[in-house]
Amino acid sequence: MDVYVKCGLVGGTVVSWTVVLEGVVKGEGLENGRKVFDEMPERNEVAWTVMIVGYVENGMTRDVSLCSILSACSRSGDVSLGRWVHGYAVKEIGRDVGVMVGTGLVDMYAKCGRIGAALVVFRNMPRRNVVAWNAMIGGLAMHGKGKDVVGMFDSMIGEGVRPDALTFLALLSAFSHSGMVDLGWKYFNELESIHGINPEMEHYACMAFIKSMPFAPNEVVLGSLFGSCYTHGKVKLGERIMRELVQMDPHNTEYHVLLSNMYALSGKEEKANFLRKVLKKRGIKKVPGTSSMYVGGQLHQFIAGDKSHPQTAGIYMMLDDMIRRLRLGGYVPNTSSQVLFGCSTRDDCTEALEEVEQVLFTHSEKLALAFGLTSTPSGSPIHIFKNLRICQDCHSAMKIASYVYNRKIVVRDRYRFHSFKQGSCSCSDYW
Ligand SMILES: [Zn+2]
Ligand SMILES: [Zn+2]
Repeated sequence: MDVYVKCGLVGGTVVSWTVVLEGVVKGEGLENGRKVFDEMPERNEVAWTVMIVGYVENGMTRDVSLCSILSACSRSGDVSLGRWVHGYAVKEIGRDVGVMVGTGLVDMYAKCGRIGAALVVFRNMPRRNVVAWNAMIGGLAMHGKGKDVVGMFDSMIGEGVRPDALTFLALLSAFSHSGMVDLGWKYFNELESIHGINPEMEHYACMAFIKSMPFAPNEVVLGSLFGSCYTHGKVKLGERIMRELVQMDPHNTEYHVLLSNMYALSGKEEKANFLRKVLKKRGIKKVPGTSSMYVGGQLHQFIAGDKSHPQTAGIYMMLDDMIRRLRLGGYVPNTSSQVLFGCSTRDDCTEALEEVEQVLFTHSEKLALAFGLTSTPSGSPIHIFKNLRICQDCHSAMKIASYVYNRKIVVRDRYRFHSFKQGSCSCSDYW
């Protein structure tokens, strides 16, 4: 593979990369092919087909390779590739793509923010097992559709499919988003009493569920999970989950704090103090917020105040216009939480306030939104991915923008989906 790089392929067109990829997969095997594939700056459908065929020839079943691509789409939010896989599957397998690929599609569409498409695929599946139901219920949960989750759960029971622990965790997370945690626990506690699932299984399911979410579990889910572990005398279970989470994501300070609280609750003061010291020593690192979106099959990424995008001039022009129109629509920059330093006169204050506002206006979400408005056809939905929780100010700006521009705006943040439409959000401002 080095040879190709040395020959100056870096920076080559996607077509030349694909030709090389095909040669390497055929001549040097899939492993080296994978290296070329990972190096490709851009991947087209031919490249994906080469990889799928390569996997299948190497004994991985077609369904498994399709599902692994779909889960890659879910993680990155690349719905256009996901749609291509959908088309490919229908062409290769037929209208009924089978339970496994069907479930992969439901999961992919839901995690890419297309809950409607997920529902269509799910309803058209002639056979559905508990995994498929879990994908659908989990998808609705991520989108905060608490009522639909209850309806879906009832249909599942009605069709005679036996729920498992994952089903209940999906229910629990749906209710934690809609502020109905108690109802979630009512279902969750039926695990043992009605459905006979033992605590070992609960532990396994918690981990599988947390790992399967494209989101970090939020404080509400974790807090209520551990609160309940405590009240139900399952402190050990809580500790075990927490320990595994800390190992899984050692930089996540939230997990450390929760685990140390857990220790403190169960009287293990020494362990709790030790963890607190570790936390103090390490300090809290702040991850920079980034917002990204796919336009024309390409990923565009923004950080706050970003000026690195090739279309920066156009984006900032749109941003100015957007802020003006949002203000007319009732948007008031949320500067109340900001401290104004060093201003004694009225003019000073105005100047300081303008600076604070400017910082708010160039949050990564707003830059992504401005870019989305310039680069997608009017009236089409805009999908944005944010690695952290969306801030209050951007949340209210998005609401007004959805109304002013008559666009559906879907933001997947660290904890959930926000679907903005006609001036309001699917989360009902609860997040
Ligand atoms: Zn913001
Ligand atoms: Zn929201």
